[in-house]
Amino acid sequence: MATALSMTMNKSTYKDQNVSSPYETALLQYDRAVGHLDLPTSVVEYMRYPRREFTVNFPVRRDDGSTEMFTGYRVHHSTVLGPSKGGIRYSLHVDLDEVRALAMWMTWKCALMGLPYGGAKGGVIVDPKTLSMGELERLTRRYASELIPLISPQSDVPAPDMGTNAQVMAWIMDTYSMTVGYSVPAVVTGKPLEIGGSEGRTSATGHGVVICMVEALKRQGITDPSNISVVVQGFGNVGTYAANHAFELGFKVVAVSDVNGGIYNPNGLDIQAVRAYYAETGALKDFGNAENITNEELLALPCDVLIPAAMESQITRLNADKVKAKLVVEGANGPTTPAADDILNDKGVLVIPDILANAGGVTVSYFEWVQDLQAFFWDQEEISRQLRRLMIKAYDFTAHTAEEYDINMRTAAQVAAIKRVAQALQTRGFYP
Ligand code: NAD
Repeated sequence: MATALSMTMNKSTYKDQNVSSPYETALLQYDRAVGHLDLPTSVVEYMRYPRREFTVNFPVRRDDGSTEMFTGYRVHHSTVLGPSKGGIRYSLHVDLDEVRALAMWMTWKCALMGLPYGGAKGGVIVDPKTLSMGELERLTRRYASELIPLISPQSDVPAPDMGTNAQVMAWIMDTYSMTVGYSVPAVVTGKPLEIGGSEGRTSATGHGVVICMVEALKRQGITDPSNISVVVQGFGNVGTYAANHAFELGFKVVAVSDVNGGIYNPNGLDIQAVRAYYAETGALKDFGNAENITNEELLALPCDVLIPAAMESQITRLNADKVKAKLVVEGANGPTTPAADDILNDKGVLVIPDILANAGGVTVSYFEWVQDLQAFFWDQEEISRQLRRLMIKAYDFTAHTAEEYDINMRTAAQVAAIKRVAQALQTRGFYP
């Protein structure tokens, strides 16, 4: 079956190239961070492990009447600070270790942002582009019904991630609601507005990335966007909104890419025209007035800011020395391996880490959950104001921690987050 094969290929690719897999990256980052903290071994060990892991194999009826088996996961890394929160990914790259890594990063991200959540992640091994709408709906509803013992507004609240979107969240919300017998909008976030979604959720991660980029530049005395060139890898939810928002603010977005490669114009791309072209053709290739490039070439382009917004392990020990950007703002989760981090650090590249830079999504998800629970909705202006306030607060918190411990922003973000979880864990105590 194609799904099982790609799982093996995914794992062996990391091994063959001798680069860290996402879970190895997450654990190495954790070890580096806890090394700066004087925590009891029991607490360090507890936070190292996912709290629970769920694997499900389930059938989906194809449109031609045949049935295919799929495998899905949901991992709750931590519930110390509150219900676990984290996206659901549909991709052929999904495996249990990847989901574990993403769940752990969610724990630190929510803690860093001061949200009352633990961390979780889910995924199904599937390329959603190969399914019809009907097949996608049946796959989603079956996976959602398998998750019912785990999810609820009080226990675990999923959201979109790679390969899923607001429609997928609507099907999960409906499946859950049909099962319990009444509508429960707060069981997922990232829903369409008409069923209890929030203003500003779709663009939130990309906007948060740009808030962090602007903040990092401002702290280096750079306030004029017109001379700052920006490269964005990934043209999905995060990449598109990040590129678009940067473009709207007057930054020169010189290159963007998707899984099939990218386009480059050193004088800047008209991102609105690129979006229209992408919507029409489904590709970036051959967009007029730009050069076609590979993803490998994109990462090595001369530019001021690089925004990796595609997937994990893109900047590795094999290509980190080729990165020319002075600032890397991580839109994706885990795009930089620890070995690459060291190389970038030695080159004096400032990396704004994923758990800070892409936290805009979970922050507006939190706003959505709060609005659903109180059944009272905020306008776009209020969402933007609160998002900006929390992003800058978390940026400050990370920068102060970096100064206090004399460490880089990646380790500082993890140290700050881990301290919060450890403190809550110690206050609650070990059960029983
Ligand atoms: P998406 O599915 O909407 O888009 C992913 C994009 O990356 C697509 O353009 C795809 O073609 C491209 N891509 C995939 N593999 C690639 C590769 N090997 N090289 C280059 N490009 C590749 O996903 P998304 O929601 O935008 O998520 C992107 C990243 O951001 C993921 O790491 C995700 O975990 C992270 N993230 C997403 C959110 C969110 O709110 N959606 C929040 C926080 C973090």
